[in-house]
Amino acid sequence: MRIETCYFCSSKVYPGHGITFVRNDCKTFKFCRSKCHSAFKRKKNPRKVRWTKAYRKASGKELAVDPSFEFEKRRNIPVKYNRELWTKTVEAMKRITEIKEKRQGHFIMERLRKGRDVEIQMDVKDVQRNIGLIRSPAVGLKERRAKEEAEEAALMEEDDEEEITYVDARLMEKKLEEGASFKDIEMMAE
Ligand SMILES: [Zn+2]
Repeated sequence: MRIETCYFCSSKVYPGHGITFVRNDCKTFKFCRSKCHSAFKRKKNPRKVRWTKAYRKASGKELAVDPSFEFEKRRNIPVKYNRELWTKTVEAMKRITEIKEKRQGHFIMERLRKGRDVEIQMDVKDVQRNIGLIRSPAVGLKERRAKEEAEEAALMEEDDEEEITYVDARLMEKKLEEGASFKDIEMMAE
């Protein structure tokens, strides 16, 4: 039993899944699902369909050239069963998949990092081009400070000026009854 790869999207085709098409020149095509089969029947090119592995590798979105891919190859030489070789092979398969995943992850991270660098450069350029639109927070700082200080000083002066004049309440009442204005009362207080 083999785990085949889909002709169209390159995903795994497990035994008992998918469909096999044998062309009249004896070339066999395995498909993982009807989506891939129908795309093939419509003569779509897997390199131009965005969701396939072929497209992703062709356009540099995934790791395409790596020695770790060399391990997994179709070998049609029969090997006599050997328990030791079998266990070793299984161990090796685990290790290889681990390495492969690590490398692919690293490749993707590198790809994303490049995009971020470009973004930063674009931002810097944008700022340099439109520097006139940006107002520095330090503009007019000195003037503002001087104004604030002047205001504070004015407030202090006002505080000094404000004096409470004490007036005898009974006298004031009397005066008000007599019909005197507030000015007279102030005069009286002095
Ligand atoms: Zn497929």
